[in-house]
Amino acid sequence: MGSEAVVAGVELGGTKSIAVIGRGREILARYRVPTTTPGETLGALSRQLAAWRTEYRPRAIGIASFGPVSVREGVMLPTPKPHWAGADIVGPLAEGFGAVAFHTDVTGAALGEGRFGAGVGLSDFLYVTVGTGVGMGLIVGGRPVTGMMHPEAGHVRVRRSPGDDFAGACPFHGDCLEGLVSGPAIAARCGHGAHLLAADDPRWIYIADALGEAFATLFLTLSPARIIVGGGVGLGQPHLLDLVRARTLTALGGYLGYVDGGNIGERIVPAALGDEAGPLGTLVMAQDRIAAGPGAAG
Ligand code: ADP
Ligand code: ZN
Repeated sequence: MGSEAVVAGVELGGTKSIAVIGRGREILARYRVPTTTPGETLGALSRQLAAWRTEYRPRAIGIASFGPVSVREGVMLPTPKPHWAGADIVGPLAEGFGAVAFHTDVTGAALGEGRFGAGVGLSDFLYVTVGTGVGMGLIVGGRPVTGMMHPEAGHVRVRRSPGDDFAGACPFHGDCLEGLVSGPAIAARCGHGAHLLAADDPRWIYIADALGEAFATLFLTLSPARIIVGGGVGLGQPHLLDLVRARTLTALGGYLGYVDGGNIGERIVPAALGDEAGPLGTLVMAQDRIAAGPGAAG
């Protein structure tokens, strides 16, 4: 009865971090702390978790973190974010817990949407956040893809939209997907915040083209039933999803029988849980960890 157990979760974000205790999709308690240094932030979270262990006796913890992380080793990889490169994430947070699961923040959000949101009942779906960056959680055959590190499909290169000569804003790749469509990339392109770009501005076509190219590649590569779109840009522009749907169909060129004009509205959908996807996802990770039984990897 893994889904009925009381479990704990931590979502580490770039600016704030959240700890939760919950049962099923019910959050019993919540604690927020700014993300400053690993010592301060993980220390505060650990103290809260210790208090909750006494009060609630959670059976497992799910931890989801901003990246880049080594999911296998539970540590932060080299990152420009001050103080965090090489930090041990899982060690301090998992102390005192018998069962632990660890994933990226976006995989956590994918698992939350999969259990309680826009991916319910699906074994193969992708969660794509278009916000400060572009992150992807890939659920294939009911399990998150981890690989050697974790997927970084936000940085794939896409065929450029005709007429779009913006150099792109990714410090590594220039005009990779993230470099073209993230909130900061749109701001760099326009000279003002993405939320101020009018819905009928033709530059949204460039953004939809880039996303459509990437989504077509993802449908072709992983054969997901659904791509769930979240994030400040992804959800903040209601007109964008229809453009992306149309551009995805164009990029697919009618090749995939299961993705067509009749069902594209079900194949590409907005996220349903908003900011709750992450915290709920950490609870799902912990519940799944219990269900997998002793000795299973996170
Ligand atoms: P994060 O990716 O850091 O978790 P969000 O998903 O909220 O955070 O994304 C933040 C980004 O989304 C910012 O770059 C912001 O400019 C952009 N954004 C927020 N609201 C909107 C909106 N209504 N339209 C377009 N972009 C938006
Ligand atoms: Zn990039």
